[in-house]
Amino acid sequence: LTRLPNRVYLRDRVERAIARLRRDHMQGFGLLYIDIDRFKVVNDSLGHGAGDDVLKEVARRLATCVREPDVVARLAGDEFVLLLEHVAMPETACKVAQRVLKVLEPPLQAAGRELRVSASIGITIADRNYDSADRVLHDADVALYRAKRSGRNRFVLFDDAMHQTAMGVLDMEQELRNALVRDEFVPWFQPLVRLGDEGVIGYEALLRWNHPERGVLTPGAFLKVAEDSGLIEGIDWRMFRLALEASRELVHDGSFITLNVSPRLFQHDDFDRRILALTHEVGFDPARLRLEVTEGTLLGDPDAVVATLQRLRDAKIEAALDDFGTGYSSLGHVHHFPLKMIKIDRSFITPFAAGVAPRSSAVIEAILALGNALGAEVVAEGIETRYQCEVLKAMGCVYGQGYLFAHPEPAEYWLAKQGR
Ligand code: C2E
Ligand code: CA
Ligand code: CA
Ligand code: CA
Repeated sequence: LTRLPNRVYLRDRVERAIARLRRDHMQGFGLLYIDIDRFKVVNDSLGHGAGDDVLKEVARRLATCVREPDVVARLAGDEFVLLLEHVAMPETACKVAQRVLKVLEPPLQAAGRELRVSASIGITIADRNYDSADRVLHDADVALYRAKRSGRNRFVLFDDAMHQTAMGVLDMEQELRNALVRDEFVPWFQPLVRLGDEGVIGYEALLRWNHPERGVLTPGAFLKVAEDSGLIEGIDWRMFRLALEASRELVHDGSFITLNVSPRLFQHDDFDRRILALTHEVGFDPARLRLEVTEGTLLGDPDAVVATLQRLRDAKIEAALDDFGTGYSSLGHVHHFPLKMIKIDRSFITPFAAGVAPRSSAVIEAILALGNALGAEVVAEGIETRYQCEVLKAMGCVYGQGYLFAHPEPAEYWLAKQGR
């Protein structure tokens, strides 16, 4: 399996095919992007190593669908690609796709069991209009996505109509701009809890994009582009307003809401004035608002940062240091900043599993001590297991957040839960 051509090799082959195409006016080539349906389920049901047997058999059968000098490559996990040289007609590539579905039909043996797999296939025919391997793979991937969505065990040919949407996906920046206009960004909320009794002390507002085609997207899918393009500023302000509006009902009895502030927003001279003005406009008590900033934000001009945080504190808006431990600031640096809360990054919590004493425990202890010394509340992020929760409690950590207690959900979910 590991001897199959990989992504690097494939990209290289596709780049060369494109170059040849453009130089010698050769025929086009076809690319089939193949993904095994529900492989994760199959793999989990089989247990150790047996998933690889399945993939090996799949690869063997795929090899019977092509001829020299075509390529069977494995991109990752259960994703394969067939590169069909000298194919100009979509029909030819579709015939191969049909064959692939056919050869996968007979049951295969793994872990002493007989099981069936199917695949979804996205096809693209590359002509002289393509200028990069990534573009070819991308279009095939878009078609694959359609194939999966239309019910699996089928193939879809990338066509011009998809080109429209694919251009949109590719041009994420334009899409983000449209999404702002169409008002597709919404806040979801995840509780912060007391580890002792799991009572909710507040909610963190987390950005979500209600994408008309792709469903609810988390920031991982678009934050980088949003930040690099500067669009994050408009998105954040829209998001903050909606979060504060929802929080008028959500937050009560001394609890609070937190907003994640991108470094770029925080740098503006009038940031503190604007956020305070927004609370007034929306009618939200600033004393119930906390701003999560990262170490990256504190790295700016320290005097200016301290001044901004102090002005915010004077206006009753407190600050939390997010993802603590991942950035550059030494533990000793932090006491310069007026902080109400420190959030220990998930990467220090994750290593805790029964029977393991990870090195991160020393870091956590140091952060807890620092929090004590500064009079700041310390929250452990990303608690997923009961064990992690117990260890943290034993270490003296009072607050936490994570899937063990609750996932992020829309405001309506929490309001219903509160019986409102
Ligand atoms: P973050 O501020 O560190 O937020 C915590 C992330 O961890 C969230 O991901 C949350 O859904 C996830 N999480 C919570 N509990 C667990 C757990 O137990 N296990 C695991 N594996 N994950 C957990 P999400 O919502 O995808 O947000 C990702 C990042 O995007 C955030 O990281 C934050 O840096 C950024 N972000 C979120 N909302 C906004 C926003 O409104 N504005 C800006 N500028 N950035 C935002
Ligand atoms: Ca799959
Ligand atoms: Ca955060
Ligand atoms: Ca965090």
